Amino acid sequence: MSEDAPELLNFIDGDFHPSACDHWLDDHAPATGRLIARIPCSDSTDIDAAVAAANSALPEWAALTHEERAVWLDRIADALEERAEDIAELESLDTGKPISLARDVDAKRSVSNFRFFAEQVREFTAETFEMRNATNHVVYKPGGVAALITPWNLPLYLLSWKVAPAIGMGNTVVCKPSELTPLTANLLAEVIAETGLPDGVFNLVHGTGEHAGAPLVAHDDVRLISFTGGTATGATVGASAAAGFKKLSLELGGKNSTIVFADADMESTIPGVVRAGFLNQGQVCLCGSRILVERSIYDDFREQFLNAVENMAVGDPSDPDTELGALISPEHRDKVAGYIELAQEEGGTVVCGGGAPEGIPEEFADGNWLAPTVIDGLSTDSRCSTEEIFGPIVTLHPFDTEQEAIDIANGTRYGLAGSVWTSDLDKGQRVAEGIDTGMVWVNCWLHRDLRVPFGGVKDSGVGREGGRWSLGFFSEAMNVCVKHD
Ligand code: NDP
Repeated sequence: MSEDAPELLNFIDGDFHPSACDHWLDDHAPATGRLIARIPCSDSTDIDAAVAAANSALPEWAALTHEERAVWLDRIADALEERAEDIAELESLDTGKPISLARDVDAKRSVSNFRFFAEQVREFTAETFEMRNATNHVVYKPGGVAALITPWNLPLYLLSWKVAPAIGMGNTVVCKPSELTPLTANLLAEVIAETGLPDGVFNLVHGTGEHAGAPLVAHDDVRLISFTGGTATGATVGASAAAGFKKLSLELGGKNSTIVFADADMESTIPGVVRAGFLNQGQVCLCGSRILVERSIYDDFREQFLNAVENMAVGDPSDPDTELGALISPEHRDKVAGYIELAQEEGGTVVCGGGAPEGIPEEFADGNWLAPTVIDGLSTDSRCSTEEIFGPIVTLHPFDTEQEAIDIANGTRYGLAGSVWTSDLDKGQRVAEGIDTGMVWVNCWLHRDLRVPFGGVKDSGVGREGGRWSLGFFSEAMNVCVKHD
């Protein structure tokens, strides 16, 4: 064990506290396997304390104006921005992702989530509906104590995406980040403590889903749950929430298709499709891991695509030139690698990657490495082509017609995202609308406007967040109908 691995504490009622239990969990760096922190394996006693703090902070916080709460969000954004490099370094260390990605995406988005929702909350106006002899005033009240549960792939990016609109609309929150990536949630608590946000508005409890997440979701005083994670966990969370009639937003897994037509501009399409397949080692719910290519360009596309994938720089996450880092844990790496064996059993051919990347330096020998892997020759209804792998593995499939591409894209239990690549924008729009998902990009991928609805259909989730959809989720609309003469 590393001598200097810090012990992180829960943040409850404006202060850092040890857990009621004395059981600790180890946090390892994915790139080296080194112990980098220990977190409390909190349980229902800690959850009770955090929810009680959130509940007692609620009346005063809810009574503030939108403008007053927006000022707090801006203060948090400013304080986070001062620590942007710390966020990037901690996120890269804790997740194994390349530092360039942690700087450009994780750190920047964590700050801009608070800035964006400050502006949204400030500009928020409730509707009025006139009748001949009455006016309806829609009033948006805070929903209460919100449970915010997040995964390990984009830790602070996703946590801030929930905290900002939740507290901006007057709720108080209890957060349960993934036990695998606690570092930047802890940094957020430090930053929030520095800003002097009223005690109890933001609370953070570390630990496992079983011991901390489940009692949080089930707590009687929690009224809203925003959960991002896997589909199986989402079903458990949903069942628990339903019993208490809690408001629920589920952002779950995906198996997204990238559809490449023969008329696509290859110069921009190849890097776009590579990025969609492998960003964050393929550990983004939106990743395009099944690549459908119009048959007339299939061989040519495959050659250019493989060339680009083989040239990706895999290795030391702290090197600014690294494009692909380590996977989150040994268990996850083994699960992902298991799909390579399965692909071969299913009749596929590994045409790139398939094992540990070459040339990884000795200091990373205990890390969780897997080379970017491309599989050809699988049927579109094979398990590898339809199940969420959540790693650096993509499958390639030819198609002949627009309708066939749409049918293949719709042939999974998921419905989160997708992308279409074509120089015919009418066709792009038409094909996009034919896919049963929450989001489709045409000639781009993960090109985010924070105002638009974000979420999935089928087994990819329930509800939408983003812009006014987040503000709607984190509030209760009531109508006041005033009769006049
Ligand atoms: P998990 O579902 O395993 O975990 C997500 C969070 O839920 C973690 O904090 C976990 O705690 C917690 N949790 C686990 N069990 C329970 C429970 N019974 N009650 C309450 N909370 C619980 O997902 P991963 O962390 O493995 O993340 C990867 C998944 O997230 C992928 O499927 C990916 O597609 C999805 N995802 C979806 C996104 C979207 O926007 N649709 C975005 C990003 C990821 P712990 O793990 O610490 O035990």
